[in-house]
Order: sequence, then C-alpha cells, then structure tokens
Amino acid sequence: MAKRDYYEILGVPKNASDEEIKKAYRKLAMKHHPDRNQGESGKVAEEKFKESKEAYEMLSDAQKRAAYDQYGHAGVDPNMRGPGGQEGFGGFAEAFGDIFGDMFGQQRGRAGGGRQVYRGSDLSYAMEVTLEEAAKGKDAQIRIPSWESCDSCKGSGAKPGTQVKTCSTCSGSGSVQMRQGFFSVQQSCPTCRGTGKVIPEPCTSCHGQGKIKKQKTLEVKIPAGIDGGMRIRSSGNGEPGANGGPPGDLYIEIRLKKHDIFERDGDDIHCSVPISIVTASLGGEIDVPTLAGKAAIDIPEGTQTGKQFRLRGKGIKGVRSSYPGDLYCHILVETPVKLSEHQRKLLRDLDESLRKGGSKHSPSGDSWTDRLKSFFS
Ligand SMILES: [Zn+2]
Ligand SMILES: [Zn+2]
Repeated sequence: MAKRDYYEILGVPKNASDEEIKKAYRKLAMKHHPDRNQGESGKVAEEKFKESKEAYEMLSDAQKRAAYDQYGHAGVDPNMRGPGGQEGFGGFAEAFGDIFGDMFGQQRGRAGGGRQVYRGSDLSYAMEVTLEEAAKGKDAQIRIPSWESCDSCKGSGAKPGTQVKTCSTCSGSGSVQMRQGFFSVQQSCPTCRGTGKVIPEPCTSCHGQGKIKKQKTLEVKIPAGIDGGMRIRSSGNGEPGANGGPPGDLYIEIRLKKHDIFERDGDDIHCSVPISIVTASLGGEIDVPTLAGKAAIDIPEGTQTGKQFRLRGKGIKGVRSSYPGDLYCHILVETPVKLSEHQRKLLRDLDESLRKGGSKHSPSGDSWTDRLKSFFS
C-alpha cells in the first residue's frame, strides 16, 4: 500500500505552522487513542493513531520536515528512532511526550557528553473494583512489569567475554554535526542512536539491552470514594528511562464492577425496592439494603410504583467530597403471581368492592380517563 502524504494525514496545508501541526496532531491523537477505541474499531483506530503519530514526528522536526518536503517519503526513514522509541505497552507517553510534556513532567534533554536522555514511557494498568471497595478504599497488590539488570552481561549488553566499544562515528559523544545549507546542526548519532557506545556482539539473554523485563508486585492504596474512570499515579513505576533518563509513571485506571443491587451516580447510589401490593396499599416498615448494612424505611399507605425514598448520607463520600451522597430507593409495586383459586376469588371480591367506591380508590384514574377522552376526541 502506498504511504499517505503526511500533510494529508494531519489534514493541514503544506505551509502549516508548527502550531497548526501540533494542534491537528493533538486532535487526531485524542480521537484515535487506543484507550478510547477498544473492540472492533480498535484495530483501525490503532493504525490511524500510529499513522498520525508518524506524520507528526516527521513534520514537527524542522530537519525531517525539510527533507520530506524535498524528497518525500524517501527523504525520511521513520524506522530511525531514538533509544526511547520502543513500541508496545508504554507507547502512550512516547507519542504524547512532546505535546503533553508539561503534563507528564516530561524531561527530555541532553546530559553531559551530548547523549540524548529520554524519560521512560508511562504505563497504564486497568483495575476493576467493586462498589464496596470503591466506597471504603482498599489496599491492593498488582503485578507490573519491571526491568532488572541482565545477569549474563552484568547490564552492559555485551555478550560475556566481549566488550562494549566506543562509537567511532561520534567518538563516544552520542551526537554528530550535520551540515544543512549554511547551518550546522547537532544531531543524535545514527550509528549508536545517541548512546555513544556500540556493542559488536550483543548479549543473547537481553539482546544487548542490558536489562530484562520481569514482574514485580506493587502495593497500591485505593482511596475511599474513588469512582470509575479515575486514575491513580504511581510515580516512577513506568518504563525505565534511557541513558540515565528518569523512569515513566504508572497510571492505575479504575473501572467499577457492576453491582447486583446498587447503581452509582457520582456520590449518590440508587436501588430498586420491590414491595407487595398489600404493603403498598396499607403501608408498613420495610428493610432496605445500604452499603453499611440494613436500614428501615416507613412506607406510607397508598404508595405508588416510582416513589423515591432518600436516605441522606447513605451514599458514598467521594474522594474530594466533604459529605457522603445519598441513597435513593425506587419503589416497585409487585403484582402477585401464581395465585390459587381462593386468592383469585379474594381479588375479584376486592375488585368489586373497589368499583363500588368509584374513582376515589384510583389516584391516577381520573386524570387518565380525562387524557383518554381528549386523545379519542
Ligand atoms: Zn545481557
Ligand atoms: Zn555514535
């Protein structure tokens, strides 16, 4: 398949300013971000996301953009990446790094010797919690990837018995001077990708990375009142940085499990409470469930379906709330089923007696009859 034009991908004119390019990319990245597009459309969204990311990476770099303008796709090779350019689990921060840099506290810069320093990618972890756990908070343990220094090569990345060599292209500085017209531009060394070192024979255990991906257990405090869609940042538990750069962060994204009885709406919770036709008619005390055990409510005589009872403060105290929300009980009057012959007779007798009393027994009857009349007339 022919590669699409980078300007076309971002939907900007050829003379677009850096600001316009950044804006267009931000819009596309938000729209196609894999976290927002799961399931069937996810694959397409992921492709679009990668495509716009690549376009942005090229056009936001003055040098690459100039090369692209002059030579098209042949002028730029998107496979040439810096040492932080690993794809996968943590692609998020890498893609957003430049745009949301301040948001993530991104620090990209040059350390001594001109070597490019990269902050590690952020990781995200989805955690499902029950309503009860969300209300009370909990201490959770999660397994997350961690990177340990490779045992075989002691972290050097070189096959045991061989040596890491200083890069001859940049003499170990990690950067090279590139001439472009009148300008001389300092650029990350293409041979060593800015590390200043080359590994002639990479270690087979870690493929020259010097580190191996493992798992570690992390204790996480889920604060009381947390809600679905919120996220908790665990500082420094993302992917490790490159060339001495700081690690990324881990984001724990909270998802709320569906509850059998309650439905949450912010700090309030709702539940349906079925009552018998007799309790609804005569009134009575009933027990309703709350997050803190049972509570009693008084059902007044003549209660109808849809009536709400509010139990103040029986909801959830949100993370940033000063007071807990309320519990709303929605009354549902149940029609009795599987009646015996005797019970049927009792109901028929009751019906006859009610009819004699006229519409006074039927609170919505009058207005309903009126509405029917005007509907048919
Ligand atoms: Zn190794
Ligand atoms: Zn080099």
